[in-house]
Amino acid sequence: MPEGDAVYRAGARLRAALDGRVLTRSDFRVPRHATADLTGRAVLTTLSRGKHLLTRVEGNLTVHTHLRMEGRWRVIPTGRRPPPGDLVRLILANEQWQAIGVRLGMVDLVRTDDEARLVGHLGPDLLGPDWDPEEAVRRLRAAPDRTIGEALLDQRNLAGIGTVYRAETLFLRGIWPWRKTGEVDDLEGLVSLAQRLLAANKGHAGTVTTGDRRPANQTWVYGRAGRPCRRCGTRISRAEMGTQPQERLILWCAGCQPR
Ligand SMILES: [Zn+2]
Repeated sequence: MPEGDAVYRAGARLRAALDGRVLTRSDFRVPRHATADLTGRAVLTTLSRGKHLLTRVEGNLTVHTHLRMEGRWRVIPTGRRPPPGDLVRLILANEQWQAIGVRLGMVDLVRTDDEARLVGHLGPDLLGPDWDPEEAVRRLRAAPDRTIGEALLDQRNLAGIGTVYRAETLFLRGIWPWRKTGEVDDLEGLVSLAQRLLAANKGHAGTVTTGDRRPANQTWVYGRAGRPCRRCGTRISRAEMGTQPQERLILWCAGCQPR
């Protein structure tokens, strides 16, 4: 599932392809906006906010997309055919480039003035220019009885963490995922580490938290259930965390992250 760093990269690709150029084609393949046509309008820019992408277009319009579970943006030269089999939800094209939204979990078209309705609830964006660790900690502290594992995934507290960064950050801080947020000693250190991990990965595909980019060595616990901990040798545990239908995968080392 794409996390904040992947969304950040998608935003950068869209800016490079679309910013300042006039759309020669728009194709919304979602029922709600099937008749929308942005042809002739210039794209101003694309912002990433947590896991949301906001593509601003002339005339107070914003295309709001979300990658959800398996969405991605493909950018190819205009005129070239996209690979067959892609489930295309949206195409935005200019004379040079076409940006093809594949399997997007959300496609919406709103007034730019109304963006706050979409993303105003989000906590500080870990990769945003306005990242504010103190505000993130303040929001986390507001619900001290919540497990830290669930609190870190709640985009209202801080925006950009998914299951991979949650597991890796908690491992690196030695925190059992079910510890209550109010009982975590150093929330500042925790959110700062999460931010550094995302920032370190924003420029390339894949998630490397160990500093070792070889495919089998990239993470401490994520994707390593049942295998020995790289630090202490304990077998990595795996469980679903949260209440249905929101439960999500958590991995941890019972040796390094004791109750
Ligand atoms: Zn361990």
